[in-house]
Amino acid sequence: MPTAEIVTIGTELLLGEIVDTNSAFLARGLREVGLDLYRMTTVGDNPQRIAQAVREALARADVVITTGGLGPTVDDPTRRAIAQAVDRPLVFSPQAWRMVQERYAARECPVGDNARQQAYVPQGARLIPNPVGTAPGFIVETEQGIVITLPGVPREMEAMFTQTVRPYLRQRFPQSGVLRVRHLVVEGVPEAEIDARVRDLEAQANPTLGLMAKPGRVTLRLTAKAPSRQQAEALLDRLEAQVRQRLDPAWPVARRDAPAEAEP
Ligand code: ATP
Ligand code: MG
Repeated sequence: MPTAEIVTIGTELLLGEIVDTNSAFLARGLREVGLDLYRMTTVGDNPQRIAQAVREALARADVVITTGGLGPTVDDPTRRAIAQAVDRPLVFSPQAWRMVQERYAARECPVGDNARQQAYVPQGARLIPNPVGTAPGFIVETEQGIVITLPGVPREMEAMFTQTVRPYLRQRFPQSGVLRVRHLVVEGVPEAEIDARVRDLEAQANPTLGLMAKPGRVTLRLTAKAPSRQQAEALLDRLEAQVRQRLDPAWPVARRDAPAEAEP
């Protein structure tokens, strides 16, 4: 199965000044396209550490998605760092420059001196239009894997992922299927008691069953992977029925479907 990693970039994240919501959004997005996510990394605005984090992620995974540090200022080192990580020169892209200029024109902003920075991308990259902000993102396909670079502003990043990256990944990895998650929440029953009844189901591979305990409540997480959403849901229906059969009918069991983005 193809795998992905996320690298979020920003010193603010490491200082605890902002919460990394981009990773959570992308994690759900990757699940929707059926890519397995095994690791998420956060690095500051340091070009060497960004390049190293991306290189390491690329050595393990098929797809690496980065967010942050794409803007036009000097503290936005991501373009250069990605170029370094994939061993390609950073080149001026006339197409990216047209996109940047169009975005400034749409906002009726004067194009500042540093705006041109946003038109530089690693050689051979394909561009990801930014319908919300000014900086386009980009995709670099290398022999080692694919690097997808998005801006840090959540509204921009989310729009670009949904409009361009998600369809791209679906097309690039058509065989990877869809992962669906469903939660069954049981209140007031000890985890060990539930575990004792479903232990053998927890050992199976697809669909999988996992337990998460919090004070006073246990959540059973059911996960299924299949070529289509319908098939994944069917696997979950079957597992849910099995689980419910094992649990005491007197226990309150509430079903919650995990959040997911709208399908195209
Ligand atoms: P810009 O062009 O606006 O500078 P950028 O791609 O350079 O965008 P950053 O400068 O890294 O992005 O981040 C811009 C803002 O986006 C941050 O100040 C923060 O509010 C938000 N942001 C960045 N990364 C994340 C993240 N991982 N999760 C949530 N918010 C984030
Ligand atoms: Mg910035």
